[in-house]
Amino acid sequence: MPMRPCWVEIRAQAVEDNFRLLAAMAAPHAELLAIVKADAYGHGLSLCAPAVVRAGARWLGVTSVEEGIAARAVSPHARILVIGGLFPGQGPDLLRHSLTPVAWEPWQLDEIEAAARAAGASSIPVHLEIDTGMSRQGIAPGELASLLTRFQSSSRLKLDGLMTHLFAADEANGRITAEQLTQMGSVLAAVAAAGLRAEWLNVGNSAALLAGQAQTIASLAAQHGMKALIRPGLALYGLSPAYDPAFDPLPQTLAEARLGLRPVLSWKSRVVTVRSVPAGTVVGYNGTFVATEPMRLALVAAGYADGLDRRLGNRFSLLVRGIRAPLAGRISMDQAVIDVTEIPGLAPGDEVVLLGAQGRESISAFDHAEAAGTIPWEIFTRIASRVPRVAI
Ligand SMILES: *Cc1c(COP(=O)(O)O)cnc(C)c1O
Repeated sequence: MPMRPCWVEIRAQAVEDNFRLLAAMAAPHAELLAIVKADAYGHGLSLCAPAVVRAGARWLGVTSVEEGIAARAVSPHARILVIGGLFPGQGPDLLRHSLTPVAWEPWQLDEIEAAARAAGASSIPVHLEIDTGMSRQGIAPGELASLLTRFQSSSRLKLDGLMTHLFAADEANGRITAEQLTQMGSVLAAVAAAGLRAEWLNVGNSAALLAGQAQTIASLAAQHGMKALIRPGLALYGLSPAYDPAFDPLPQTLAEARLGLRPVLSWKSRVVTVRSVPAGTVVGYNGTFVATEPMRLALVAAGYADGLDRRLGNRFSLLVRGIRAPLAGRISMDQAVIDVTEIPGLAPGDEVVLLGAQGRESISAFDHAEAAGTIPWEIFTRIASRVPRVAI
């Protein structure tokens, strides 16, 4: 059926190429876990999870058991880490779909253990998360001992990984990251002292990888006979996180990423109608835009319910015929109006680019983020589910 023209195009080949570039950056020291949570950052899980697997990913990361089940449906052989932990009653589904949980609370281990007992499973891998300073999820290093007793050899739980989240890897002053890794060093020593050994040291996001931390994390892992697992998200989708400008000189890995990563997503719509209006015409809710001269206006089939931030009204441009056309007036729920006075020959049906390239111009998720006062992660994940993702 022909569709309302508001869609996202996904270059699955770019996801593959980005994964390979990042994996080469981590190798031979560390392996990558591809973060595909939140529908692959709005890029479409069913397109992106198979793409990273084709490129060699053995691990995927999702937020929840629900997302894990969706990832399992399209990636039958990957290991799938549930980074947001499980919720009461989710143990049986976790096991049924062979998902690997992140856990840090005794009740989560109870839940997994009860499900393992019920299923007659003897060795369920678990990644324990350590809170090394972010105060979000994870157990404090000082309280770890009591959780480690749950992984004795008679247990149905197997300590497969130790995880933490580096929360300031984009800062030029690497003090917070260094402090977090020092804490992880003590944690690994405590695990060994308890007679346990985990296979994976699961640490680091895009910012850490691109800042060149793979080797540091891997050597910490190697000191304890472990392997390093790094968890990039944003970089897989072609963007390097913005770093502190004081980061100087730029790490070689970041320079490489900026040259090599390719954007994956383009967001498009079409001109619905074009109208000529006299000076004095008001546009949109509350008439916040007034034509100062005779103008031509084009209606675009995209609004804030599609994820186009309402704050962009009167202060952002979209691309049409390779030219930036300013948004005129407030963005409506399902529509927006652009000023195309300077663009001759425009016609209904012409393609409008909200995010991506057209001709020599392009609009990035950073451009959207700056105008909306947020970050690219939020721009991507807010593109509404009613906007179809189409592979190209
Ligand atoms: C989302 C997330 C990541 C990926 O972060 P990026 O900055 O997108 O690379 C890594 N680890 C955890 C725990 C996350 O929640």
